[in-house]
Amino acid sequence: VNKFLNTGWLRAGASAIACVALFSAASVQAAKLVLVNGDAPNVGFNDPTPAAPVGGNPGTTLGQQRQIAFNYVLGIWGKTLSNTNITIEVLSGFIPRACNATNGVLASAGPNTIYFGTDGTKFADTWYPGALAKKLAGRDLDNELLGENFAEIVAVANRNIGAANCIAGSGWYYGVDEKAPEDGFDYIKTMLHEVGHGLGFLSLVDESTGEYFEGLPSVWEHFLKDNTSGKTWVQMTDAERQASAINNENLVWTGFQSFVGAQRTLDVKPQLDLFITGATQLNGFVYSAVPGFGLAEGRRRGSGLLAFLSDGTVADDGCNPYTAAQASTVRGKIAVVARGSCVFTQKAENAQNAGASGVIITNNNPEFYRFDFGSPDERNIRIPVALISQQDGTKLRASAGRFATASFIDQPRRAGTDLFGRPLMFAPTKVRPGSSVSHWNVSASPNLVMEPFANGDESNSLKPNKDLTYSLMQDIGW
Ligand SMILES: [Zn+2]
Repeated sequence: VNKFLNTGWLRAGASAIACVALFSAASVQAAKLVLVNGDAPNVGFNDPTPAAPVGGNPGTTLGQQRQIAFNYVLGIWGKTLSNTNITIEVLSGFIPRACNATNGVLASAGPNTIYFGTDGTKFADTWYPGALAKKLAGRDLDNELLGENFAEIVAVANRNIGAANCIAGSGWYYGVDEKAPEDGFDYIKTMLHEVGHGLGFLSLVDESTGEYFEGLPSVWEHFLKDNTSGKTWVQMTDAERQASAINNENLVWTGFQSFVGAQRTLDVKPQLDLFITGATQLNGFVYSAVPGFGLAEGRRRGSGLLAFLSDGTVADDGCNPYTAAQASTVRGKIAVVARGSCVFTQKAENAQNAGASGVIITNNNPEFYRFDFGSPDERNIRIPVALISQQDGTKLRASAGRFATASFIDQPRRAGTDLFGRPLMFAPTKVRPGSSVSHWNVSASPNLVMEPFANGDESNSLKPNKDLTYSLMQDIGW
């Protein structure tokens, strides 16, 4: 997501506004989201190229299919936002975006206007995305405060997807049946996600510096909490926010609706965590990504003293059979080895053969978040194995020579939540501007619409028990 904040925001004083919107509980309402076609003649939404109807989309030109598909997206959102009847304009089109033969930006979106000091808001001195500000105020703020109408949201798709220099061999899929082919990108799912950002599913903080946008928090930051410091983002300094944005697995959303939605939506799965004691710099819970080989989920337990695998003559990656000295170092203990040079199962097998009771692998790359380890080998691993971030690994290694211990805790909980059931946010250890902090964690299961990467199996429904998007929207004021 790129943020479009280039027009029309206003520092409106709270005193300028007097009325509070009230809604009848009995009325049946839905927001009306309207496409504002930003494309030039003969391109994008206006492309006259003939096209065969596809997946329930009856359009007979490319432009028609695109308009039908986008209006389908807007229809889903309109029905989802059922406690308002405001009209929201979404400026959209197909434009060239950054791309090469194998990678590219599919689409991007954001609020086109933002406000603070609007009536109906829960938090003072806080930015609200234009669409949400309009909903809370119950009337059109653009005309009132700016003397001009602006679309509340800008959402654009990459026009070049599928070209030779833009993820060659792929293409947009405009069907509404959730049956995009293997090499196609589901336009509906992509734009459901993007319009979500435009409606307010995003932080306005600069994730790289921790700085507020124009000196004020946005509504998002009131709900972000760091489990390490125990502070919300509005209680932090810029430097604390900067650190929190990369505090992988420790950044949570505190909104009540999302908590409830998570209990209804997310699968209960065994989650392997580490608990460290006696270390100089890293104590307490360390949420880890975990190779699933060997031990069955729910049985990956054990504790012991940490043993750091380095005798000064070999790399500490654990890829070779252990020397006698190394074996005596790790016997009955939890071996700490570095990632790299061989597969995880090789490291686990070598440690197991040397008598270690568990293995902690420290990442060799600064970017870390839970990710798929691929299919396990056939090795008969009977000890628990966990991978931790490079940063945490460096902290752990500072404890060499001390009596530090680690416990593997393998307990079921909702996938994508913390120990208290609060949804985790995406906070990889190397910041991804526009992506960090403004998405759910990738560990959520089932996959959610507002995860940072398109998985293709997200629901087209935005509510529990299919998805948490609407729950978060309710938290911020929708
Ligand atoms: Zn996104």
